[in-house]
Parts: sequence; C-alpha cells; structure tokens
Amino acid sequence: MKIIVATGNKDKVKEIREILQDTDASVVTMAEAGVFADAEENGSTFLENALIKAKAVHDRAAESDEWRDAFVIADDSGLVIDALNGEPGIYSARYLGYDTSYREKNADLIRRLNGVPDEERSARFICAIAAVCPDGRVLKAEAAMEGRIGYEERGENGFGYDPIFYLQEYDCTSAELSREEKNKISHRGKALRIMREKLMGQGETAKAAYRGE
Ligand code: IMP
Repeated sequence: MKIIVATGNKDKVKEIREILQDTDASVVTMAEAGVFADAEENGSTFLENALIKAKAVHDRAAESDEWRDAFVIADDSGLVIDALNGEPGIYSARYLGYDTSYREKNADLIRRLNGVPDEERSARFICAIAAVCPDGRVLKAEAAMEGRIGYEERGENGFGYDPIFYLQEYDCTSAELSREEKNKISHRGKALRIMREKLMGQGETAKAAYRGE
C-alpha cells in the first residue's frame, strides 16, 4: 500500500512512519511523490480541514501514473480550551498570527485564564485524520488528549502549546513527557492508530478483490 502524507511537517511524517512500520505501507511525503497541492483550510472543524488537504492532494495524485493508486492522508489538530469557548481550536496554528512565538501565545492564554480556578481550566488537544482512498472513498479518525491549562510554562519537549498543557494523571505537562510517552497517549498517536486499523482494513479488502473473493 502506498501512502502520501499531505503535510510539509517532517515530524508528522516521522510519527506516521513509526506507527505504520510493521505494516506493508510505504509512506512518502508530498515532496518525495512530487505531488503538491496547496488548499485553503477554510473548513469549520478539524475533520473538514483534514479532508480539504487530503482531497486536494488526492486530486493531484490522480493525475499521476505513479501515484493514482496511492492513499492520501492528512491531519489537522489543535487545542480546545473550555473556558475560552473552545479557542484557539481550529485556529491554533494561526492564533495571534503564524509569526508570533509560542512563548507569547502561551503567555497570552494563561493571561486570559487569570482567575479561572483549576477545575474550570479543562482543555483538550484534538487530532482529526482523513484518508482518501485511490477510488475516492474517505476514511476518518479523530481522537483527543484531555488536560488542563497550567499557570506557567513547564518542560522542554514537544512543541507549540505543550508547555502549558497539564496532565493530571502524570502530574506534568505534555512538554515534560518523552516523545515515546507522549505518542502513547497523545491525540495524534491515538488518531493515527485508529486510522491505521481502517487503512489496513482497506488493504485487506483490496487484496481479497485482487484474489477474486
Ligand atoms: P496543524 O499542523 O495545522 O494541525 O496545526 C496544529 C496546531 O495545533 C499546532 O501548530 C499547535 O499550535 C497546536 N498543536 C497540535 N497538536 C499539538 C501538540 O501535540 N502539542 C502542542 N501543540 C499542538
């Protein structure tokens, strides 16, 4: 099974390769496939945005002899804070502008939660993954990691909003977890494992059809 990942983010591709490593899937980036598409993420949910990206790349791949039999997967993720009516949500990457540092974005969110007690600081990272099969059918997966917004940045690992995302169960932020620990419980890790099962199901269906079953 060929899979094109519709992202320019090397870390995402690495994580997807790790999770699919014991399958027969060969995972390539858009650059490796030479298939590019730049779609406007104007959906109103994480899933819609993931699907917009995956469909745009699928349409390009369909024009290529080499890649029209590939599956295209894309993800969209972000941080949802209950006390801020779900902000920054689907605008997580764009919050305060793409060029604003995460130190500033995190400080701003903590400031906005000034005076909000522990139990009302609930938040979750959400990751939606969409896959478009070679025949155009769509597979979807979505998962969350629950936590609370802390009072200061803690930890050096991870990226983005990790230093302010406090996990009660582990008594640390997601920036204090190792990469492996985070992958086991993260929204992206969980959504990828759900998608992996759905993709493997497709692979089996395709093989059975080839065998004439
Ligand atoms: P995407 O690349 O369009 O999915 O952007 C997701 C944005 O959500 C990132 O730029 C981060 O701001 C935030 N985000 C998503 N997942 C995580 C995470 O695991 N840790 C920290 N921030 C995250």
